[in-house]
Amino acid sequence: MTPRQQQAQAFYAARDKRTAQYGAEEGALNRPIVLSVDEVTAADRPAQVAILALVDMLFRVHRKVRLDLPDVTMATGERLEDVAIAAAFAIDPFQRPKGLPVDGEVRLHLTTTGSSEAADVMGTWNGGRAEVHIRGAGPLGAEAARHSANAGHTDVLGAATTACLVAAAAFAMVHGREPTPAAINLLTRTSGIGAGTDSAIGPLDVGNVDVIGGGAVGHALTYWANVFGVIGTWNVIDGDDAEIHNTNRCAGMTVADAGWPNGVPVGVARKKAETAARNNGSRATTAWFHELPAERPRPDLLLVLANEHGVRDAVAQRGEPLLLHATTSANWTAELHRHIPGRDDCPACRLPTKTQASFACSEGHADPTDGQSGDAALPFLSAASGLLLCAALLDLRTDRHLLEGRDNHWLAHLELPLGSPIQSAIHRGTTCVHHLPPRARKTIQAAQPRRWDHIDDLT
Ligand SMILES: [Zn+2]
Repeated sequence: MTPRQQQAQAFYAARDKRTAQYGAEEGALNRPIVLSVDEVTAADRPAQVAILALVDMLFRVHRKVRLDLPDVTMATGERLEDVAIAAAFAIDPFQRPKGLPVDGEVRLHLTTTGSSEAADVMGTWNGGRAEVHIRGAGPLGAEAARHSANAGHTDVLGAATTACLVAAAAFAMVHGREPTPAAINLLTRTSGIGAGTDSAIGPLDVGNVDVIGGGAVGHALTYWANVFGVIGTWNVIDGDDAEIHNTNRCAGMTVADAGWPNGVPVGVARKKAETAARNNGSRATTAWFHELPAERPRPDLLLVLANEHGVRDAVAQRGEPLLLHATTSANWTAELHRHIPGRDDCPACRLPTKTQASFACSEGHADPTDGQSGDAALPFLSAASGLLLCAALLDLRTDRHLLEGRDNHWLAHLELPLGSPIQSAIHRGTTCVHHLPPRARKTIQAAQPRRWDHIDDLT
């Protein structure tokens, strides 16, 4: 073995602990994959977004990924392939994305202009509807997307969702599983024939946002937020250092960020808050939420993407009119959570930690997730979680369907099983002991009024 091969071995051993905990097998991660897109599709921004997102996801897990991209120049003036290859090397310096084709490649292909019989996994989209086809078989209602050539340059939701589906299908396929063709819409949180083409375009305009937690979902959120664009000041709050095993799933995080430039542990790690914030030009606060001064100004919106230091209890007691967050689970799901005091339970009741008494305020047909499950995850799960949350923020600014109805917990099943890949659940807040009473909330809100306080009046 050459010294460089030894470095690669040490790199994968250190990086892929959490991937292995999720059940990934070494042999499967070494199966060759090729990612391609047809030239007409690649000319539009949605496809470019999908390709770059797939590069970000695939190279964090799979070890032999080949890129077969057309010569396309993006609006930034850069060549798509150049950007993709630079991103790939920053994530995994040991791969050869421009290598020659090899036998037995799993073929991933994106197109909105036709079909590809040769592809093992084909991704396509129409508006907010994303589809993944498996070996030529499409999901129910697939004909709707087949005519969806060139939906425009700004509507990227469906393409972004397709990237998550294709990465999920690729992971299943290298492990010898046969994923089910699927269609989902993360804006309307629908699937199959019911997944229409409704979509929403950026920017995300929900005011000043505190993003509590710069983990995998926090990175995914800011990664997609950068794709949609943001109005307002976002602040990512996390005291942790980036570690090499975080690069298996944190979108935008490079091995150099984790102190492993060129795949060797000779550098200095950055803070996770900084790498997550860098994705979309947010501010970074490199401290834990519970260490921050109590008198700091209220944001317009708090997104709770961490579970350490009792943060879910702490935010539930801040008198906010609305809390949103997203999680991944050990059961191949990406999940969106809504918490409106007086109607819904709180984040601490939804996801109790092991050391905490269990409050019996969660119900519904979905299995509440294990509080430890965020420790092991795969990039497409985190990516889909962050994208679900982005779609919710787009909806909050426009139609506000998110605020209607009893459903307050939505799950996307990225294992792509038979049956509906999107489910929802209801968790009532009747026994939650964390949310403040209405009068206490109103006092806090009146002292520093913010953008979404009126939601508290709707309950
Ligand atoms: Zn509670």
